[in-house]
Amino acid sequence: MRNVTREVAIRNIAIGGKNPIAIQSMTNVPVTDVEATLAQIERCRANGCDIMRIAVPNAASVSSFAEVRLRTDMPLVADIHFDYRLAIAAMEAGADKIRINPGNVTLAQLDKVVDCAKMHNIPLRIGVNGGSVNKDALKRAEGNKEQALFDSLQEYVRRIEARAFYNLVLSVKSSDVRETVKANRLISKLGYPLHLGVTEAGLIRQGLVKNSVGIGSLLLEGIGDTVRVSLTSDPCDEVQAAKDMLIALGLRQGVTFVSCPKCGRCSIDLENVAQEVYDYAKNIDRNIKIAVMGCEVNGPGECADADLGIAGANGKFVFFKHGLRYKTVSEKDAIRQFKEEIDLLTNDN
Ligand code: SF4
Repeated sequence: MRNVTREVAIRNIAIGGKNPIAIQSMTNVPVTDVEATLAQIERCRANGCDIMRIAVPNAASVSSFAEVRLRTDMPLVADIHFDYRLAIAAMEAGADKIRINPGNVTLAQLDKVVDCAKMHNIPLRIGVNGGSVNKDALKRAEGNKEQALFDSLQEYVRRIEARAFYNLVLSVKSSDVRETVKANRLISKLGYPLHLGVTEAGLIRQGLVKNSVGIGSLLLEGIGDTVRVSLTSDPCDEVQAAKDMLIALGLRQGVTFVSCPKCGRCSIDLENVAQEVYDYAKNIDRNIKIAVMGCEVNGPGECADADLGIAGANGKFVFFKHGLRYKTVSEKDAIRQFKEEIDLLTNDN
């Protein structure tokens, strides 16, 4: 059962309430390289990203952020650390949301950011991280780090609410998966939309595991309104990973892709065939299931619920629909014809 939270709008994307879980990523080039920033935003959008975050680290970045803002209609979050004036400048430059760690500014400065956000009707994401948890809060929580993270965030939320500002998204992140899950469970009780992520999760393989376990556990409990799969990689990899996770959990429409683990019966280059089919189909915005199997012994049976499948066998590929084989194609024509079948299926309204 989904935890229903307050609804917050980031440009044309609403999060919280009963809205779909939104996918976020973050550009990893300096915003002063406007062309590279825009190129990343567009690539991520094409892969299914809903919201992009951009670091605005200094005053020189603000004018570049403003230019990016003018040249894309993607919802943009300005990521601010330490200098509250940058948050205000980013709002004036058209940011759709500000992400700020309230522990990095004074309370008086935080008040100014809140008042500016209220004036512009822009949401704020306030987040605390495991690495920067307040020492006093940790002492009060008797060393319980999740409780300390919750207490710190709740104090900020109460202060902001006292200024009659409720346009908030909350986050609590740690590179420790258990800590992230426990702290988010506590914070979900505050009623605001949650941005989920496991921070500094690492390179692709380890990062995917940590994020899938952490974010996936929370989503299965109905917690979370927007996700960022943090990876030391291209932002598009983060978007694809988030999309695959949401599809796997039945929380987003898209292609379910299955391929067998391969065994001694396989006589085809399964990895490359599977990769090519996946890359072709991954951005189709329809609920379909596609299977690529390494042999015809178990292929049709194991993929009986796939809309379309192929199974390689001795220089040929058997094609099947809903578990029934319907044609055999030579290896050299198989992938082209399979793509045509995918097109036919997805263009068939
Ligand atoms: S589909 Fe064939 S190749 Fe793939 S794991 Fe099953 S038996 Fe092995």
